[in-house]
Amino acid sequence: MKRLGGKVAIITGSNRGIGKGIALAFAKEGCKVVVNNYKEDNEGKKVVEEIKKLGSDAIFVKADVSKEKDMKNLVKKAVGKFGKLDIMVNNAGILVFGTVLDLTEKDWDKQIDVNLKGTFLGTKYAVEQMKKQGKGGRIINISSIAGLVGFPGISAYCASKGAVTEFTREVALDHAADGITVNAINPGVIQTDMTKGMLDDKATKENLLGNTPVGRVGKPEDIGNAAVFLALDESSFITGHNLVVDGGWTAR
Ligand code: NAD
Repeated sequence: MKRLGGKVAIITGSNRGIGKGIALAFAKEGCKVVVNNYKEDNEGKKVVEEIKKLGSDAIFVKADVSKEKDMKNLVKKAVGKFGKLDIMVNNAGILVFGTVLDLTEKDWDKQIDVNLKGTFLGTKYAVEQMKKQGKGGRIINISSIAGLVGFPGISAYCASKGAVTEFTREVALDHAADGITVNAINPGVIQTDMTKGMLDDKATKENLLGNTPVGRVGKPEDIGNAAVFLALDESSFITGHNLVVDGGWTAR
């Protein structure tokens, strides 16, 4: 028995990286998936094909998470194709480097628009749809351990993820009685395009591994498996939680 059989999920930024890892983990469990990126590209279409090969169904919908019109349309397209929405994963994110002295106002706005406003808009339109359906739902926000502890040189990113962490707790309270659980996953260092530059640099990689007690970098599947757990019907008593998946980084 597939554990997410009959469910429908939207995963933002799922053409590659962690989002793709979550999309494939959901599809393996029988979930129908709406794959998303802010632009049309082959990566997204390939993820749709991979999902179909796994025996599930998927569509690709272009939407920029920082644009309200796009996010309304994303939910509308998901419901139009699959009839409902059970799970929303707000995963799309960017990493803007810089201390407060380096960052421009434009850098700051871009970082907050995608990581925080995008999570707000995805949550807003998913909750609206889930309430209409009246059967509860699951919101899963991809935060970061940078939303729990400080990391030098990425002040706007830390601020965006700290806010996602707290936003998750607040929305969980507002919608607990609706049967909608709202949780975050706080990944440590995961091998994706976002971290490629750091992991390609030998000294930086050694430093990151030195801070990761399990002694390896995380894989997108590690986050996919955690997201499946939070999406299960059996996880209905878990809400407002920040699930750290970091190989022990923040346990030290
Ligand atoms: P990634 O760069 O490989 O993937 C991010 C995805 O988001 C890409 O597909 C990108 O096109 C998409 N995206 C960016 N802006 C968008 C927008 N405006 N609208 C729609 N899609 C957009 O990075 P990743 O490592 O897979 O990151 C996924 C999430 O995990 C992010 O929120 C990131 O902050 C978080 N995270 C990553 C790590 C890590 O070590 N890789 C650690 C902690 C948290």
